[in-house]
Amino acid sequence: MTIYNFSAGPAVLPKEVLQQAQAELPDWHGSGMSVMEMSHRGKEYMGIHAQAIADLRDLMGIPENYKVLFLQGGAHLQFSMIPLNLLRGKASADYVNTGEWSKKAMNEAKKFGKVNEAASNADKNFTYVPAFDSWNCDPNAAYLHYTTNETIGGVEFGWVPDTGVVPLVADMSSNILSRPYDVSKFGLIYAGAQKNIGPAGLAVVIVRDDLIGQAAANTPTMLDYKIHADADSMYNTPPTYGIYMAGLVFQWLKKNGGVAAMEQANIKKADLLYTAIDASNGFYHCPVNKADRSRMNVPFTLKDANLDGEFLKQADARGLLQLKGHRSVGGMRASIYNAMPLAGVQALVDFMGEFARQRG
Ligand code: PMP
Repeated sequence: MTIYNFSAGPAVLPKEVLQQAQAELPDWHGSGMSVMEMSHRGKEYMGIHAQAIADLRDLMGIPENYKVLFLQGGAHLQFSMIPLNLLRGKASADYVNTGEWSKKAMNEAKKFGKVNEAASNADKNFTYVPAFDSWNCDPNAAYLHYTTNETIGGVEFGWVPDTGVVPLVADMSSNILSRPYDVSKFGLIYAGAQKNIGPAGLAVVIVRDDLIGQAAANTPTMLDYKIHADADSMYNTPPTYGIYMAGLVFQWLKKNGGVAAMEQANIKKADLLYTAIDASNGFYHCPVNKADRSRMNVPFTLKDANLDGEFLKQADARGLLQLKGHRSVGGMRASIYNAMPLAGVQALVDFMGEFARQRG
């Protein structure tokens, strides 16, 4: 039976990448060592590290005046590092509140400075992207933070806000590398790796040079972007194996047409699933405003929540795994990141159709 894993993260990785990692596990390229066993200062690992950065730069078209940092602490630690490093003595920062993750980022920032909620979609239970002309931005804000894709709510921005001189900061944890972004529009981009990049334990930060080196006094050493930028993310021992795996995923992406090709495939997969939900005569329902529906995380409910358990049981038996929705919203959630093949979404849609006929 073919297994399809719809987990929101840690999530499915490309089969070819797992097979390559398996082949290279005990002896990397004739070095006689596993990547896990290498000194991070040795020439083998240094090469892996540099190649991963170069490939990410290439894939995302990252301009010269940005640093790529490989850090730890997940996206959560960025919720703290961003205000610590980017407030730069300014009075406040703008946050756009579109759901669970932006709320968490905002609440953490409140520990370090004043937060202005520039926009929110709480009025409709976090189911849409607030139109830019309704935002209440502060022209003196230290930065504006938003979440490009809300992993739990399934709300994704199809556009990038223009904040002028105010640096734009984006949590791209769940949609990085799934669609092209013009990095030059951002001051800082960050993402936990465990969805579209690789295993958990690594966070990627892409930060413009002029925003580095102005951390608040008493910022812990490990939380200062400058420390990591100056040391090329090797101030401390980096999560070497996670970086190696991320590097394999970057190479897989390049071999498969890069981010533009991923976007086309992701549009196709998402269309297939949303069309099935919308055509189910209400048996399945996605609460998100059509234009703002995520291509990565598709939340949906069943008309009768009493059927949830049976739906999950039957899905599991067919090899369609980890479809249970986030505990805060219930229902189902299918995460269909880059590494989910179209065949996986087709298998899910086929099952959903059968289940609806059986129980509808
Ligand atoms: N932001 C978003 C959009 C996420 O989806 C997640 C994880 N699901 C996080 C932040 C937190 O990531 P981590 O667990 O790596 O701290």
